[in-house]
Amino acid sequence: MTRTNVRLNGRGVAEGTAIGRAVVAVSDARQVRYRLAAGRVDRERQRLRAARVMTRTQLEDISTRVSRTVGQAQAAIFAAQLLMLDDPMLASRVDELIRTERINADWALERAIGELHEVFAREGDAWLRERIGDLADVGGRLQRNLRLGRDPLVSLVQELDGPLIVVADEVSPSIAAQLDWSKVRGLVCDVGSPTNHTVILVRSLGIPTVVGLGSATQVILPGQTIAIDGATGEVVVEPDQQALERWTLRAQLATAALRKLDEWRAVPAVTADGLRIRLDANLEIAEEVGRVIDVGAEGIGLYRSEFLLDRAPGAGGLHEDAQFETYRRLLEALAPRPVTIRTFDAGEERWERLTHGLAHRERFGLRGVRAALQHDDRFRVQMRALLRAAPFGQLRILLPFVTSVVEFRQARALIGDIGRGLPGVAAVPVGAMIEVPAAALTADRLAREADFLSVGTNDLIQYTLAIDRTDERLSGHYEPREPAVLRLLRMVAVAGRRASRDFSVCGEMAADPLLVALLVGLGYRAFSVTPAALPVVKRSLRAVDSRFAERCARQAVAADGAEGVHRLLAPIAEVMGRLVAGG
Ligand code: PEP
Ligand code: MG
Repeated sequence: MTRTNVRLNGRGVAEGTAIGRAVVAVSDARQVRYRLAAGRVDRERQRLRAARVMTRTQLEDISTRVSRTVGQAQAAIFAAQLLMLDDPMLASRVDELIRTERINADWALERAIGELHEVFAREGDAWLRERIGDLADVGGRLQRNLRLGRDPLVSLVQELDGPLIVVADEVSPSIAAQLDWSKVRGLVCDVGSPTNHTVILVRSLGIPTVVGLGSATQVILPGQTIAIDGATGEVVVEPDQQALERWTLRAQLATAALRKLDEWRAVPAVTADGLRIRLDANLEIAEEVGRVIDVGAEGIGLYRSEFLLDRAPGAGGLHEDAQFETYRRLLEALAPRPVTIRTFDAGEERWERLTHGLAHRERFGLRGVRAALQHDDRFRVQMRALLRAAPFGQLRILLPFVTSVVEFRQARALIGDIGRGLPGVAAVPVGAMIEVPAAALTADRLAREADFLSVGTNDLIQYTLAIDRTDERLSGHYEPREPAVLRLLRMVAVAGRRASRDFSVCGEMAADPLLVALLVGLGYRAFSVTPAALPVVKRSLRAVDSRFAERCARQAVAADGAEGVHRLLAPIAEVMGRLVAGG
């Protein structure tokens, strides 16, 4: 059975939302895989026949040449390859796969070669095992001839009907330039960065793009429906009907918001009934601070400072002065708006990788404020850099992964201690991230202890539902609308309000138009989202009547499951849809 709602998370590098069928392209193996519409089967078989004829002619030529110039014995290699070409397990099998499984010739050939390879490798016969190299040779030649020198991705896109989403390990700028972007609505890549040339190109074309997914080409199958958000970096494979409805709405809102970005930048965020909402932005790369200002954010609600570690040569970014410079620049750029800098949220593995070049795997364990308390040398360096930068703007320090009042108190005491060692440093607000159930359940106490609370729904959901957020096999169960999650969220909002503390949500949940409505209903009045999503959220909030959202939220926490919550949100979705239609 195909799994639905499989979520992958990458880096959104070109905003916008798109839904389409996947075309999977792996440049390493030079493979493009696609399921065929009934009408294309014959054309594909014809491609195979033509490639086979061409391969035969080439091999005969080679064989004659080698026989003349090298010798008969060596030419026999190619005679054997010609026999292989006629082996029913190769060409006829490819033809059969095209017909019966309706897959494109390149993919069918890849499959047939794989099957033969297995047979050869399994045989006890050494002679057959040695033919594996010849198989790769004939197979490779057939593959090249199938393509006649054209890039398979470019020609495949030409032949298919849109809307398509290209899922690739990577796409070179020259290939990107040749793709038919009227059909390709989005791009998803295993690797890539915001600054590579392909990304710069697609961004200027307005094509939503998510990169850095790692294994998208392995997880996503050709022909599957996928929805992507180039702002938040989310990718959903085979969304079910409900998810599809939400994503369609999101796509419409995103288009509407992007169209009127200039108009909306200076407008404050308010709900339909005039309730003022604060919208801050999340940031990972300090140099991209301009985007925060561009979209009209009221401040930075979450700067994920651990990204500094990744970019440090060796562990050089950890130097106090280098950190100080980054923080100072951020604070100055935003002043007088507040900048919330989260202290390093890096687990042991990330630190080990930095210092010893080990593979990156985040696990439960020594991360966030726990790690800060245990390795207070690193924490002290970061804190000195932060406190020194504080006079340059409105700094707020946010502690990640807090699990108890005692822990928070210890970290705060340490900050006080470090501050006393620095002349002329005034007190800075210190907040707690609420991202594990233990923190949500003690939010009433934490709210009295901390200067502000910031809810990290990304982790809160995974720890509440016992769903590893990085395991795509479980991602269909990663569900922000689960009543258990909503109850915790409500607890935090109640705690924040009662203690008169600032409280907000900085997890991805706040970037979803419908879910942000639910959060308003649960009592939240401040959110921090990725810059590209901010205009969409602002626009969506205009469609939300906060009293209606409150009623929804009251029923949602008592619902049996996410399905029920989805139904409760339907009227809000409808109003949002009308808002989009109205321009
Ligand atoms: C969260 O957990 O929701 C959060 C904002 O932090 P991160 O995504 O960096 O873990
Ligand atoms: Mg988190």
